[in-house]
Amino acid sequence: MQSTDTEFLIPTSVGEALQAIAKEDAIFLGGGTSTALLYKTRLIEPSRVVWLGNVNELKGIRISASEVRIGAMTSVAEIAADSEIARLLPGLSSAAGVIGNARVRAMATLGGALAHADPRQDIPPALIAVDAKASIRSLSSTREVSLAEFYAGFLETVLDPDELVTEVVIPITSNRRSAYLRYTPTSEGDYPTVGVGSSLTFADDGKTVSAAKIILCGVGAVPIIAAQAAQALIGTTADESVLRNAAALVRGAIDPQDDERGTADYKTEMSEVFTYRCLRLCLGN
Ligand SMILES: Cc1cc2nc3c(=O)[nH]c(=O)nc-3n(C[C@H](O)[C@H](O)[C@H](O)COP(=O)(O)OP(=O)(O)OC[C@H]3O[C@@H](n4cnc5c(N)ncnc54)[C@H](O)[C@@H]3O)c2cc1C
Repeated sequence: MQSTDTEFLIPTSVGEALQAIAKEDAIFLGGGTSTALLYKTRLIEPSRVVWLGNVNELKGIRISASEVRIGAMTSVAEIAADSEIARLLPGLSSAAGVIGNARVRAMATLGGALAHADPRQDIPPALIAVDAKASIRSLSSTREVSLAEFYAGFLETVLDPDELVTEVVIPITSNRRSAYLRYTPTSEGDYPTVGVGSSLTFADDGKTVSAAKIILCGVGAVPIIAAQAAQALIGTTADESVLRNAAALVRGAIDPQDDERGTADYKTEMSEVFTYRCLRLCLGN
């Protein structure tokens, strides 16, 4: 029988939340869309659940000239619906808009979308592509971690059990364009077979690529940063042959497995095809 001794705490500030998590086997709860399934199937049996839904300082989107800050308890639906996010960070906007279904997006939070660390999740590639960082707090420390370094393995992050993601910070870079595109062979609401987040930053001439990022989900134990493929774009004007070559290079970075969303070979093909299409989206076509 599942333990009935789980405490349920509802802090109203970050300070209270950090106090509350300081108990062995305590967990944070955001929207609960992942945690509820793990709890129901008894994969987790927390001693205490710390629900963050009443911590208002963790909610909302703040935009300045140099950065976008999104609180960890901001819902995925709110991110998808924000017109400024769509303008400044179209890749993130697209990723948030395709997760699951409307009910999942209404409940799921940014913090949960990052900390759950399922390698098929859509938001991490879109955020890594735009150099996002997670702000992290515990009772004894505050730190910022690049999302490129946030994932430690399948369902694993670099977070300590008492660490809270408070917000995500994304620098605004002029001349950068980002996109996210995924492929789902079953229903639209399913996790992707492969998803690709990319960004291209252009030099002052508006044509030469000065920085590039390509990140894939669904084809490895963590979001895959295809550095060599991205490097092949830098210094070029991203013409057709360059895009094709960069897309082909992602094959060497990924580690797909056979599963119900496709064989490893199929996922490899789709990774190349969707990388090419995602890069074209960055170019506006
Ligand atoms: C039917 C269904 C379909 C889905 N389809 C997709 C899909 O297509 N694409 C996709 O990407 N995802 C999909 N998901 C997964 C969904 O995106 C995640 O479940 C969701 O993002 C998790 O957010 P949450 O707020 O519900 O997290 P929770 O379930 O509340 O928490 C998840 C984990 O994150 C931790 N956590 C939560 N907030 C914080 C915080 N602020 N700091 C530190 N740790 C924290 C929790 O302790 C827990 O370990 C689907 C889920 C369901 C149920």
